[in-house]
Amino acid sequence: MSAAATLQEVAGGVWAYVQPDGGWMVNNMGLIAGADGATSIDATSTEPRMRAYLAAVARTTPAPVRRLVLTHAHPDHCNGASLLPDAEVIAHRAVAEELARPHALAPHIFEPFAQGDIRARRPTVVFEDAIALLDAERRIEVRHPGGPAHTAGDAYVWLPDDGVLFTGDLVFSGGTPFALSGSPAGWLRALEQMAALAPEVVVPGHGPVGGAELLEPVADYLRFLVDAARSARERGLTPLEAARGLDLGRFGGLLEPERIAGNLRRAIAELEGDAAVDVAAAWQDMYDYNGSQPLEVRA
Ligand SMILES: [Zn+2]
Repeated sequence: MSAAATLQEVAGGVWAYVQPDGGWMVNNMGLIAGADGATSIDATSTEPRMRAYLAAVARTTPAPVRRLVLTHAHPDHCNGASLLPDAEVIAHRAVAEELARPHALAPHIFEPFAQGDIRARRPTVVFEDAIALLDAERRIEVRHPGGPAHTAGDAYVWLPDDGVLFTGDLVFSGGTPFALSGSPAGWLRALEQMAALAPEVVVPGHGPVGGAELLEPVADYLRFLVDAARSARERGLTPLEAARGLDLGRFGGLLEPERIAGNLRRAIAELEGDAAVDVAAAWQDMYDYNGSQPLEVRA
């Protein structure tokens, strides 16, 4: 495990749980204390991480966690949910569908890591466009951006009275945005929606907390990706050929640069009218881009 995770108070009774270094399987969570129980935004990838989070929560608020909002169906955000067995699980409808049919990843893609005795829980409450959770002290708005973005079932959580925005993986801070299971075009629209809220605090799905300035670098990467996909298509390159020939430039310092190979497969498919993507091939491309070495997991 890398450096210790911290609960950072971002507004009265609202915390970001930030897990360095924000790489593969190392995500952030949110915690909102309430009059009749706390709300957790997302869970963790492994049992030790989830137990550490719950211990930090118990030290911070006496309120039991009664609600778990899942920002999307990726395993790093969902695996630890079984350690909150009594919490209501709130997510977009597509999260329920994705969790019902998890796709198995070829075992060589990632470095092995111990998940422990935990599993995702399927939502108990689903919504289509948005759902508002009312608490004696504040309004918690959970919104779907209107279509696929980072995944098909993204949700961001907006606290209008506090100016705090929990983006899930609609924002990576210091890491490469990952669009394989979503839509670059839809993601750009989601970023515009979130920017229109003019948030004071932005809690990303991975990496350090910031303000509204965290949104534009993600959009910048996605526009760069779409341009690269267009060029690859014109030149008849495969996603892996295009990725290998691409100068990442200002994005070269982000964590997980290998995501460009999977991102290009999705972006090229989208330009071709959203043809289905061979997800297994995309993961293999990322592995090959990474020098045919397993992707490093610091979970
Ligand atoms: Zn994700």
